[in-house]
Amino acid sequence: MTPKLEDLPQRALDTLDTSDPETKVILYSNNTWSYYRPSLQALDELPVYREHWDTTQVFAYRSIELADLPPVTDLKLISSLSDFHYPVMGKVLSKYGRRGRRNHNGVDIPLQIGEPVYATFDGRIRYSKYNTGGFGNLVIIRHRNGLETWYAHLTKRNVETEQYVKAGQIIGFIGSTGRSRGPHLHYEMRYCDQTFDPEFIVDFETGQLRYQTFALEKSFFNINSRASDQLEEDDEWDDSFKMLASESGENTSEEILERITNPQKSQKSQPTGLNPSNAVYHTIRQGDMLSKLAVRYGVSIDQICRLNGISRNTVLRLGRKLRIK
Ligand SMILES: [Zn+2]
Repeated sequence: MTPKLEDLPQRALDTLDTSDPETKVILYSNNTWSYYRPSLQALDELPVYREHWDTTQVFAYRSIELADLPPVTDLKLISSLSDFHYPVMGKVLSKYGRRGRRNHNGVDIPLQIGEPVYATFDGRIRYSKYNTGGFGNLVIIRHRNGLETWYAHLTKRNVETEQYVKAGQIIGFIGSTGRSRGPHLHYEMRYCDQTFDPEFIVDFETGQLRYQTFALEKSFFNINSRASDQLEEDDEWDDSFKMLASESGENTSEEILERITNPQKSQKSQPTGLNPSNAVYHTIRQGDMLSKLAVRYGVSIDQICRLNGISRNTVLRLGRKLRIK
């Protein structure tokens, strides 16, 4: 009788390398094979998760200067075992780069409070806490290739430092915490603390990764990346977005949690008509009163209150923009 394959003695014959340096293929004497992946403990031993590992501060590579980096760093972004997932999908409202006299070290993608935010690649949480420098609830993931992805202004963080995450895992939810003008994700990519434009790698509108391996040139880095560990969010967002943002920004934390934990039920309570292209705004001038505005624009006082999250007794500050329709 011929022995069945599974009855044959299984003895490791050889170990083969794969494209992922941390993954091997083991060949057995019974003509079977398996992947060998290091345990979490082995991951802990990797230099990338041990060296320059600081869970208390946003910058972890203070001893490495921009001048120390090579002209080009090849970043292997995905492999057969390490995948990609967009952090969020949406339109980049404020791009990476100079913003007035300041620098914007990431991209801003406005979304509704409570939308999930995903880990871009597999990695380990280096930082997860409320940051008083302006980032609000901030999660930083260090990836195997040394790249770090930063996720700021979250309403809620879903991960703890030291934890390993997979690409696509929900690490938190969109919010407007810290120095933020409205609910959005401020997203950064950093290598050795230095930033470059995340749009080089991710197409946020389609949610696609642009490269499997990315040649990160030194010239891509912003020389001011590390000038400050404070987030400088500026006010180049257009007015329509500000209004959109303030509407959802005035959700109470109870509403936010309700939405996160019970998306179906709370769907109904979401504000409608958020398309800013149809919106009508009015800038408050001397002598303006809600009753006058209501008559002038042919809407009810209640509607103006509802659209702006104010009450009939709210003092109208001069220069404030109110949404009318
Ligand atoms: Zn930003």
